Amino acid sequence: MNDRKSGKFPLPLSSVIGPRKRQGQDADYRLKEVTPQTAIRNRMQPPVAAKTVPPPSGLPLSLSGSRKSPETIPGAVAMAEKMTALGIRNAMTLAAMRAVPRHLFVADGLRYQAYEDTALPIGHHQTISRPYIVARMIEAVLEGAGGRKLPRVLEIGTGCGYQAAVLAQVADEVYSIERIKALHEQAKSNLRVLRIPNLRLHYGDGMLGLPQVAPFDAIVLAAAGLEVPQALFEQLAVGGHMIAPVGREKQTLQLTKRTGARQWQSVMLEDCHFVPLRQGVV
Ligand code: SAH
Repeated sequence: MNDRKSGKFPLPLSSVIGPRKRQGQDADYRLKEVTPQTAIRNRMQPPVAAKTVPPPSGLPLSLSGSRKSPETIPGAVAMAEKMTALGIRNAMTLAAMRAVPRHLFVADGLRYQAYEDTALPIGHHQTISRPYIVARMIEAVLEGAGGRKLPRVLEIGTGCGYQAAVLAQVADEVYSIERIKALHEQAKSNLRVLRIPNLRLHYGDGMLGLPQVAPFDAIVLAAAGLEVPQALFEQLAVGGHMIAPVGREKQTLQLTKRTGARQWQSVMLEDCHFVPLRQGVV
């Protein structure tokens, strides 16, 4: 599953390719001490009306780990404004949402919808996540990082690669795992044009994590299991945050902080809807 040829950044082109909390607030982990599989539930997110945003003119040439300022993407700017209206407050998260051209991650026929706040099909019965939920998850794991970039992040479920590209704007190193070979390849090809030097894609079963690269300061799951795999709790750094959709038909975002060598604390944020987390590779 793991590409051992490439342990270092920058990467070669061939390989790349709560109740609601506000910025500066820490999630209230005093609510409950839990073991990794325990969950408590808080509240529902109101549904959001979709609105058509015209496709952007002009594509950014590169996204270089957010050091250079990328070209403005009108659709993404409008989308980030929508995220603000929905309650996203973290400045780094919003800047990352503005910086990534989401239209590059969907099929040509869906590009006119690329900046709507909606999930879209990417083939193989999978979807690109709804922008609000991408922003919400990233904001949640950034809380507690003191406004700084996260050193090392793991994403489970690369899909088309969009969220991985957003994560690469808020982290020094991002590793993303996909279990469907065709999607892993699709993500590589989507991301190649953006030249993101701090992003590494892996083909494999994300339920196992990436033990040889762990620990991670944040882990973001883009697929829902009935519980979060034990290996991922173990691969979270002490002080790090993991966000995961949990459940089957009814799913909730679970935010977990590792507070000690054998201690994790979780809070449930809001309802969500993700594709299922599955074992093994195809
Ligand atoms: N991150 C994507 C969302 C993709 S949908 C985005 O940017 O929008 C979730 C993805 O998780 C699917 O591609 C699915 O194949 C993948 N997935 C499900 N179970 C997995 C597992 N055990 N390991 C790795 N990927 C998994």
